[in-house]
Amino acid sequence: MTQAKNASTKTTEWVGLGLGANLGDPGACLSQALTRIRALPETQIKAVSPTYWTPPWGVTEPQPDYLNAVCLISTGLSPEDLLMALQVIEKDLGRVRGRERYAARTLDLDILFFGDRVIHTADLHVPHPRLHQRGFVLLPLSDIAPYFEVVGLDRVDHLLEALDEDALDGIRPAHIHLAP
Ligand code: ADP
Ligand code: MG
Repeated sequence: MTQAKNASTKTTEWVGLGLGANLGDPGACLSQALTRIRALPETQIKAVSPTYWTPPWGVTEPQPDYLNAVCLISTGLSPEDLLMALQVIEKDLGRVRGRERYAARTLDLDILFFGDRVIHTADLHVPHPRLHQRGFVLLPLSDIAPYFEVVGLDRVDHLLEALDEDALDGIRPAHIHLAP
């Protein structure tokens, strides 16, 4: 994808974000998350994928399906500042009032890739280390950026083709349009 330099040396990077929510009203939650992402400094939303329902995995307790989508943004924020901003959004939106004071977290925002940067710090791994194993990421990403080459991996459409079949088990279109 493109990288544009402005008058200073600062770069604007194309960044993929993974969005997931599974409690409360997941469609409203993801729409509000996009509104908050759009309001971040130096940040524009370039594309939002269709939504998919995904059965939860890696959990023992029964849980509702996740609503998943991805979006592409351009941002002048650093990866660390973007991660911090996303964590504030997760915290603000990702809770529903339950029987306990706050029930489980409802919103997950992941940095899937950040231009062609490779980052491994204590808090941040980019590209996201499980991106190539996740149908709920590759399916929506291939809807909006099939030919994008994820640094160190492969083109998105090739990653989707190479995915284990069971990584797509139970994933189906949600037909929930996220307000742009
Ligand atoms: P997951 O997103 O894998 O289901 P969590 O959202 O609970 O799990 O993980 C959050 C932690 O993952 C955060 O503390 C954050 O520092 C770390 N992390 C590492 N790499 C990334 C990334 N690319 N995007 C978002 N969080 C990341
Ligand atoms: Mg996360």
